[in-house]
Order: sequence, then C-alpha cells, then structure tokens
Amino acid sequence: MQYIKKNDTPPTEWENWFKTGLGKRSFDYGNDYSSLRNLGSAKKFLIEEQHGLCAYCQQQITLDNSSIEHVIAKEHNKELSTNYYNLVVVCKTPPKDIHTGKLHCDKERGSKLIPPLIFVSNSDVNHSKNNAYFDAYADGTIVAKPNLEDVHKKQAEVFIDVLNLNHQNLKDKRAKDVLGGLITAYSSISKYQKDKNSFWQIQFDRILKNQKYPFRQFLLIYIAKRLGK
Ligand SMILES: [Zn+2]
Repeated sequence: MQYIKKNDTPPTEWENWFKTGLGKRSFDYGNDYSSLRNLGSAKKFLIEEQHGLCAYCQQQITLDNSSIEHVIAKEHNKELSTNYYNLVVVCKTPPKDIHTGKLHCDKERGSKLIPPLIFVSNSDVNHSKNNAYFDAYADGTIVAKPNLEDVHKKQAEVFIDVLNLNHQNLKDKRAKDVLGGLITAYSSISKYQKDKNSFWQIQFDRILKNQKYPFRQFLLIYIAKRLGK
C-alpha cells in the first residue's frame, strides 16, 4: 500500500538484467531463472526505487529477504513478466498467521489479480487532490476508508484481503514497533492540546520526509486522522 513512482522509461540496463547466459531475454518463461546472473542488479534497482520497503506491506526489505514480484502475475500475462512497470520487490517468506494459518503479500495472493493501488491510487495523504483509500487504527488494522465511493471501497477491500494485510504479525508490528513508540511519547508530553497537536504534526512531517520509514503509509494515515486532515 505504498505509492511507487516508476521512471518514465526503464533503466538503460534493464533488458540486459533479464538476459540468460545465451543472450535470450527471459524471466520466468521457463526454468532458467538461475541463469539470470544479473537479476540481482534489477532487484537492487527496484528496492531503491521503493525506498527499501515491501511494495505491499511496507516492511523494510533487503536484497536477501525480498523477492521480485509480478504485479500482474505471469499466469495472466506472460508478456509482462520482464516488463519494468510490472515488477516490484516484496518481502520474503512471511510466517503463517497464528489465528488463520494464512501468509501475506505475494505468498498469500499467489496469482490472483490485485487492484493497482500501489501505482496510481495509494495516495500521498498530504496531497488534498488524492483520495486516501485506506484507514488506519491504533491496533495496527488497515481497512478501506469508510466514505469512499463503492467502486473504490471494493478495490481497497480486495487489496487488503487478497494480500492479507491484516495478518497478525503485520498488525503487531504496526501497532507495537512503530505506532507504539509514538503513542508512548505522546502520552508523556504536556496535557495542553496545543502541544499535543504540534507533537503529531512534528511526527507527521518527519515521517513524510523519510521515504524509508517502515509502514510509512499506515502511520501517515493514522496521524493525519489525529490532526483532522
Ligand atoms: Zn510484504
């Protein structure tokens, strides 16, 4: 649920990164994945493009704990399997949810289609023209924003459901690791409303500036709500 800004053109080396040892352009067309010796360069490029965050859940990712993901799965469109605009990087090997046994991100969605909310619609909450699709709660839950038009609400719900973005681990991390620290700091400051508002404004500005902040979109939505934005 992050907005990923793709370049107007693919990087100049893009095609080379997807060539096999025989010079054939290939990625997931057959069993030659391991022969793509330059695939790591593509992955590195995509991770930087996403500021080191999973395209779906916004956990921090590295070269080692991530994998390249086809937004439109190759089962639906083989021709897009090396297309720069169809590839993102996502977190790898999530544990099973202790309640439901489900995974999250690409491991949960398999080849299901997902609404394209990572490129066009996952709004920057600081931009008044954009319509935020998601709402965020203190317990780490993400839901579709209640006042959306039906078509957009459905898109947000499908996005959350197919990728299982309310996996217990993700909720815990959002609530405890990132928001918990802020709420603790908030509760220890002056009781004066003015100070409390400025506290959240400072946090909002700080996170907005830092594109590498884990669960950034979740936090921005949560804080914007507190600020009445
Ligand atoms: Zn993820």
